[in-house]
Amino acid sequence: MGTPVNIIVGSHVWAEDPALTWIDGQVTKINGQQAEVQRSDGKKVVTNLSKLYPKDMEAPAGGVDDMTKLSYLHEPGVLQNLKSRYELNEIYTYTGNILIAINPFQKLPHLYNPHMMQQYKGAPFGELSPHVFAVADVAYRAMVNERKSNSILVSGESGAGKTETTKMLMQYLAFLGGRAATEGRTVEQQVLESNPVLEAFGNAKTVRNNNSSRFGKFVEIQFDKQGRISGAAIRTYLLERSRVCQISDPERNYHCFYLLCAAPKEEIDKYKLENPKSFHYLNQSKCFELVGTSDAQEYLATRRAMDIVGISKTEQEAIFRVVAAILHLGNIDFGKGKEIDSSVPKDEKAKFHLKMAAELLMCDPVALEDALCKRVMITPEEVIKRSLDPLSAVISRDGLAKTIYSRLFDWLVNKINNSIGQDSNSNSLIGVLDIYGFECFKNNSFEQFCINFTNEKLQQHFNQHVFKMEQEEYTKEAIDWSYIEFVDNQDVLDLIEKKPGGIINLLDEACMFPKSTHETFSNKLYQTFKNNKRFVKPKLSRTDFTILHYAGEACNTELSFNAGCSLSKQTSNLMFNKFQVQYQSDQFLDKNKDYVVPEHQDLLGASKCSFVAGLFPPIPEETSKSSKFSSIGSRFKLQLQQLMETLNAMEPHYIRCVKPNNLLKPSVFENANIMQQLRCGGVLEAIRISCAGYPTRRPFFEFINRFGLLAPNVLDGNYDEKVACTKILEKKGLKGFQIGKTKVFLRAGQMAELDARRTEVL
Ligand code: ADP
Ligand code: MG
Repeated sequence: MGTPVNIIVGSHVWAEDPALTWIDGQVTKINGQQAEVQRSDGKKVVTNLSKLYPKDMEAPAGGVDDMTKLSYLHEPGVLQNLKSRYELNEIYTYTGNILIAINPFQKLPHLYNPHMMQQYKGAPFGELSPHVFAVADVAYRAMVNERKSNSILVSGESGAGKTETTKMLMQYLAFLGGRAATEGRTVEQQVLESNPVLEAFGNAKTVRNNNSSRFGKFVEIQFDKQGRISGAAIRTYLLERSRVCQISDPERNYHCFYLLCAAPKEEIDKYKLENPKSFHYLNQSKCFELVGTSDAQEYLATRRAMDIVGISKTEQEAIFRVVAAILHLGNIDFGKGKEIDSSVPKDEKAKFHLKMAAELLMCDPVALEDALCKRVMITPEEVIKRSLDPLSAVISRDGLAKTIYSRLFDWLVNKINNSIGQDSNSNSLIGVLDIYGFECFKNNSFEQFCINFTNEKLQQHFNQHVFKMEQEEYTKEAIDWSYIEFVDNQDVLDLIEKKPGGIINLLDEACMFPKSTHETFSNKLYQTFKNNKRFVKPKLSRTDFTILHYAGEACNTELSFNAGCSLSKQTSNLMFNKFQVQYQSDQFLDKNKDYVVPEHQDLLGASKCSFVAGLFPPIPEETSKSSKFSSIGSRFKLQLQQLMETLNAMEPHYIRCVKPNNLLKPSVFENANIMQQLRCGGVLEAIRISCAGYPTRRPFFEFINRFGLLAPNVLDGNYDEKVACTKILEKKGLKGFQIGKTKVFLRAGQMAELDARRTEVL
């Protein structure tokens, strides 16, 4: 990048700072490429000119409600704008049509009361302050007026506020499309009450969020011709199964376990439950309680919500019986049996829990013990029972617990869908997607792989859409946009999902081949993707692999801009590495296998409880024997494909949730942390795409007001606005700008350049 033409001695600028990301200051000297900057904190620094961004001195103190109103569209400008708004509890800001929502981590009831809902109803977009209601309203109006389905995609990292936002959207849609208090349960009530039920069974406290959804969710709300809610369908994605058996301090297992332990006494007695501290599946972590919530009250609330969504009392009893059974199952410890490499329940305590688990699942205790400690081997000559050693018995036990739990969760989703009911006549839908954002931890396993794959898919959808919107705006103003390019992430998607030859495909192959290990799988990846630009074999590992995800792209792009709008390479170093995600392959094979041990299937399929037996329906003869292999990865890929097809037929709206700090506290705005989320959440990508075109647009009269003094003779000339604008720009020797029908379209940086000229004149 050459010397920015728009920075001169006296310019107000943003300078990089490792701790604050950026800090403002004023240029005091320029010497070649070096500029001396007097920072607002009193320090004087010398820095390369290309690392400075012009600061808009006319930006309003309280910020602007839409980033596209910023005169200088660059990272520090965007960040500063969000910060000044957040300080005033203005948590919502638009970037064009995208809504950015910064988690307030405090209740802001005035934002969501019925009066607010009433105000947003039918108000033109952009007229009132940015709000989730405004987005829902636009989607609803578009659906009613154009009879076209709309979707609202909510994204952001864990704890950013996606689920809360989704609930607010659903509440507002229920407000718009609800029926005036009719008798009994209404569809919209059921839709809303599905949330607490799913949260009780699918949410848990994690390090990042006290109420973290451990599954993805797409809710499709169906409307009739009058625009009233007539049905709904909920699809869920990839519940985290491992949590049922394994948690680490200070996280918790799924809420429902603790709720049940806090149930009224007669239930606790019936299920022989005790303090959560006595259950292995809960006491691996020292956290049992959530500050500010009462599990006893939540239990009753969950029961009420279950009533509303149409889960009968008998079903509720069975559901919690199964939950209790899982807790008892987890307490069955194994010791060595009489024969070599065999196992038995370790002691009286283990035997008690075995008996309880069997009783609650309504199956034979001996059969349960056998299913946990033995495997049936079928040889051509005979059927033999082989014993499992204590360690394998524990794995068997945990496998059973996870299978039961995930089947229970799927049952709940299914039940809710059946009971709300589908309106098959409806062709107007609003879909709301609440799905996990990019994840990169110290250890990244199969779950992170799937989550990041999802995000790559959504990123592609997002880019294509934002790009299309830009083009539409240009077309409307009759502007030439033919040269604008945009970078695609198809190559990452190919690496992951291409058939044949993508990672998911190779993983399935490895799972089908009995001799595979994670080492052979990793080696196969290394060979296959040796020359793939998106794939790296880490130097210090023999089984890890690294994917260069797209999310980091926005800061690593080949496109370069003038300094007025640059998402450039230098600033990216702060955290770019986060998007080279290194995956540990050791559990990929196990986690990909969608396999229920036949002994477990037989045991529970034969339960005397029809609810439990119903969770394990008989497997059709041909699929059980044939080689028809099913894997979690491939099934997930298929689910995503279906989701994308659904989304492609809808008009999308985006909400990007941002987590302002990792302390989960109000009023703490962590610059670098937030910047990182904007980068990978596609906000800066949207800005980047718009920077490739004409990011600054100004109506003719505004432009003349601001820059007329650069060409006083033009003002005297009595030209029409359009001609006057052209003349001003030409007089200043600017190139590449375009004059639309009502607005001036400037290239990135040109606004700052004009401002610099203006400063010279003043
Ligand atoms: P995510 O689904 O993105 O992981 P959540 O929606 O569960 O995050 O939000 C995490 C927490 O942040 C919530 O439990 C709530 O305390 C707080 N929160 C999020 N959004 C809001 C909001 N708009 N107003 C008040 N608190 C919020
Ligand atoms: Mg959530």
